[in-house]
Amino acid sequence: MEEFMLNDDVFEQILDFNHKDLTEEQNLLIDKLVLNEELKLRYKYNGLCKECKQPKASHNWCHCKFQQNFKNWTSGNHEVDKFIQKIQLKTISNRNVLEWIEYDRLENVEYLVKGGFGTIYEAIWKDGWIDRWDFENNKWIRNPESNNFMMVMEYAKDGSLDNI
Ligand SMILES: [Zn+2]
Repeated sequence: MEEFMLNDDVFEQILDFNHKDLTEEQNLLIDKLVLNEELKLRYKYNGLCKECKQPKASHNWCHCKFQQNFKNWTSGNHEVDKFIQKIQLKTISNRNVLEWIEYDRLENVEYLVKGGFGTIYEAIWKDGWIDRWDFENNKWIRNPESNNFMMVMEYAKDGSLDNI
């Protein structure tokens, strides 16, 4: 996957702009400086993250928040870790966030069905889905009411994550 990033020089030039209310001149400058369309759109919709100096992933968070947290979790499987990380760095909607959930964050775990790729259980996730990043208090805000169950794949012995 090709990565497009703003360089520091561009960041400094557009840092003080109000991304929601750009002047015509500022718009022209951005068109000149930010050639990648996706990056440009992300900037215009979401503005800049002052920490990583890149356009935020959404109005409410930045990909760097996931990246900073990579060292704090592991599924125990390198391939699964890489897959989840890749999704986290691409997602621009809180409806599409993929996370590794430790078993102790689940309750009322119940067997559902055994399929070709593993055994599926139903459970209540105590924390709930990510809603947004709290830039003031430096933490995720979650919505435990947003969904009251999820499915867990116990193992994917013969499945491959490469094709997903
Ligand atoms: Zn950031």
